Amino acid sequence: MRAARPFKALSLNLLVALAAAGVAGPCALAATPPQTLLIAELAEDENVEDIEHSEPRQAKPAQPASAAPEQALPTVSPIADPADTAPDTARQGDGVSDGVGGGAGGGIDGGVQDGTAAGEAVEQPAATADAPIEPAPATALQLLGAEVPPGTSTRLAWSPAIQIAGLSQPTPVLVINGANPGPTLCLTGAVHGDELNGIEIIRRTVYDVVPEKLAGRVVGIPIVNLPGFQQGTRYLPDRRDLNRHFPGSADGSLADRIAHSLFESVIRHCDMLVDIHTGSLKRTNLPQLRADMNVPAVADFTRGFDRIAVVHSTGTPGMLRTAAVDAGIRAVTLEAGESHRIQEHQIEAGVNSLTSLMEKQGMISRMFVWGDPEPVYYDSNWIRAEQGGILFSEVELGDRVTAGQIMGYVADPITNAQHPIRATSKGRVIGMAVDQVVMAGFAAYHVGTEAEVPGE
Ligand SMILES: [Zn+2]
Repeated sequence: MRAARPFKALSLNLLVALAAAGVAGPCALAATPPQTLLIAELAEDENVEDIEHSEPRQAKPAQPASAAPEQALPTVSPIADPADTAPDTARQGDGVSDGVGGGAGGGIDGGVQDGTAAGEAVEQPAATADAPIEPAPATALQLLGAEVPPGTSTRLAWSPAIQIAGLSQPTPVLVINGANPGPTLCLTGAVHGDELNGIEIIRRTVYDVVPEKLAGRVVGIPIVNLPGFQQGTRYLPDRRDLNRHFPGSADGSLADRIAHSLFESVIRHCDMLVDIHTGSLKRTNLPQLRADMNVPAVADFTRGFDRIAVVHSTGTPGMLRTAAVDAGIRAVTLEAGESHRIQEHQIEAGVNSLTSLMEKQGMISRMFVWGDPEPVYYDSNWIRAEQGGILFSEVELGDRVTAGQIMGYVADPITNAQHPIRATSKGRVIGMAVDQVVMAGFAAYHVGTEAEVPGE
């Protein structure tokens, strides 16, 4: 059946590093030597740490999941066939070439305007923008050194100014300024360069919006970590995890500077942020939001997403989501699928959720039929392998499990020992590792509990 892959030197080193890393915390970055830092960052990823370090849910502000939609009919997909709305996302770092085909007027093909964030001047919000056109209810959007008139869309460029000037490669930013006033929704993808589903979710969502019919603004950065994307890696060129360095600083490490540039030049202009990720280290997730349900505005925000589970997580310092919430922006992480893959079902779920969000926020008007609400998982935990070996799962993503149920086995390839991994509580598999070689301590299954507020 399945044959164990031979160890490669690299992956063995990684596994050893993973095992050795133990519980290295994310906050001890500055004080630790570079090698330890590398191990710590490889070992800790937001999928696991985000949950395990999360503070429990506090007293209930409301029952977010039960914002029951009117009906539970099958969805009418509002998304046009992507083939006639936009070109394919090329893997050349030019994922937004050629502009849109469909979608009336003002395609995002205005050529890259080099809005280098030099000096990190924080543009004034559009509310104070000069010369609003008298009859137009919406105002021009000032972003990245450009002015985007109401009712139009364009493609801007963000340059973190950390590269060699002559070789710098701006990151495309897709901007739609609606004809009518409304909130600014920002979408970020590929903060980890190997997480591809979010790139496609953003492409389909953004190119489906018609500027003339939009109330508010949509700002999409499909590939935040462009160098990582081009290398097929999660990390930045300095091997740091960008999603541990927000809001960043102008005079810190490379990651700090990139984070700072993005945060000041784009993120601070957002009222709402959805940062799209996937599982990491060969783990996959049921489509889900990660949200700090202790923040009422964020808990309320999660109710706008159709048919997607919500996992309570306070987040980790340095995460884009956490920094945005600290800055007063309603922000969640959307997790969809696995890294290195384009997964149609996950992408459809993500697009559906973002479309419902825009409808809920009054930004678009669609015939949108809401599905059954998904539960909020106020409590969840990762179940780890106690022995090293080859992991074979008995459960699938989305399965419901009972306490004590065997979820999978770790087989020792040398001694032939079989070690079962059991569920520690009743719940649902909302994330899990794909079959692979694991070391003791590897987080294998993420089980969510559809509980009421814990402790109440
Ligand atoms: Zn990620």
